[in-house]
Amino acid sequence: MSKNYTYDTQRAFDFLNSIGFVRMAGTAEELKAAEMIRDDMLAAGIDARIEDFTVQDVDVNTATLEVLEPYTASYTVTAYKGSGCADALEADFVYIEDAFEANLVDVKGKIVLVNGFLRLPLYKKIIEAGAIGFITMSGDMLDKMEESDLFTRTLRAPLRTLGLIPGANLRVCDAFDMVLRGASRVRLSVNTKLADRTSRNVVAVIPGTASDEEICFTAHYDSVEFSTGVYDNGAGSVILMELARWFAANPARRTLKFIWTGSEEIGLEGSKAYVRDHADELDKCRFMINVDVGGSVLGKELCSCTADETVTTFTDTFMKINGYAMKVDRDIYSSDNMPFADLDVPAASFFRVGAPGAGHIHDRNDIISLLSAKGLEKTILYVMDYADTLANAVVFPFERKVPADMHEKIDNYFYKKEQEEAKKKAEAK
Ligand SMILES: [Zn+2]
Repeated sequence: MSKNYTYDTQRAFDFLNSIGFVRMAGTAEELKAAEMIRDDMLAAGIDARIEDFTVQDVDVNTATLEVLEPYTASYTVTAYKGSGCADALEADFVYIEDAFEANLVDVKGKIVLVNGFLRLPLYKKIIEAGAIGFITMSGDMLDKMEESDLFTRTLRAPLRTLGLIPGANLRVCDAFDMVLRGASRVRLSVNTKLADRTSRNVVAVIPGTASDEEICFTAHYDSVEFSTGVYDNGAGSVILMELARWFAANPARRTLKFIWTGSEEIGLEGSKAYVRDHADELDKCRFMINVDVGGSVLGKELCSCTADETVTTFTDTFMKINGYAMKVDRDIYSSDNMPFADLDVPAASFFRVGAPGAGHIHDRNDIISLLSAKGLEKTILYVMDYADTLANAVVFPFERKVPADMHEKIDNYFYKKEQEEAKKKAEAK
């Protein structure tokens, strides 16, 4: 190790435990967590503040689903936030699995059931095939009924540009029942009304001693429905708090900006708001470090560099020389690094992935008992060492640019082409 870093893994773990409540985008609980992070940083003498931004949620969101033929039953469903509305829409029903070509030949005018999560390419197929309603499924067939959480999904903005039809989500066990019993005609009602909410980033700036250049750090502190989000990503949040404390006491050559983002889970809204609201400072940002998921007792350390080969090679070499066990690759990572990399800020995302069966995200199994102070320690130490090396580099070793192959992946990730097409189509009408 190059330096004797000071940090307190028990303090980090205790704070993590204290924010271990559901912290969904734009809610009072998310605000509470933001205030706790800000206040803890202020108490440590770090100038942290809360920055508001607007996200979308719903004022009204209800749905019902009944099977009319060949049996009658009703299933509990949740409305897709921001989907189309329908009042007792009756139609034939068809299960189209993953919407392969042959699944789509006869769905015009029907309500369709699809497997799992609704990503843009899947929604596009459904719309283009002429379906008039959609149903997705969530959960696990092995869930006990009393532990089977029915998630409320959102039809995100890029999907909405393709056209609106009513949508609902139901438990996978109910989807199973419908398919097994051959449901063929259904009645679907959906009422959903979008509304603005305020979400927040917490931002702390630690001025550099000898350079105008900056490095940004992100970790999202929000969680999803039913999840205490300690592994994803209270852990990354407390890891950044330890880094902020170290650098406040040991200022680096470069200015360091710590950003605890809100609303990551509903589409990276916090980091998008940050790069939008701080556009005039962003040319000084040479690099960004994102920490998303950590603290698991059983797991492994990974890094994705959304950058060129020089970053990947340096990162891999750095970890090996210093004896940090980690696999480094060059790729995109679905988190707050993306809006930065989209604007040519090279990014490294660090994540401690739980061993199979020992790390759960986005459900009620993301719990503190799978994590430990020691589970946080490795990540704290190597991110601190890595960040310290870059923050104090005499000459910054990487270009401020993201190569074309990464941009192509980023554009695909944000569905830029599809959104452009949808926009053109709408304009032509
Ligand atoms: Zn996350």
